[in-house]
Amino acid sequence: MKAVGSKEKCPFCKEEITPGALVCKHCHSIIKLPPQSKKVPTWRNKFILGFYAGVLFMALMIYLYTKFL
Ligand SMILES: [Zn+2]
Repeated sequence: MKAVGSKEKCPFCKEEITPGALVCKHCHSIIKLPPQSKKVPTWRNKFILGFYAGVLFMALMIYLYTKFL
């Protein structure tokens, strides 16, 4: 019986790989997707851009509303 758990195996070529490896060193298959740590800043930037676009739109609407009264 072989000890299982200490070493990970590639699901594609069944060769032993380093635990936590993102790409198999034998067949170069992507095993795990890299963690997306820059997801929150991107979301925040989009939110800020949307917020400013909304504020500008509101200012324009108020300007047009007051102009035609
Ligand atoms: Zn492999």
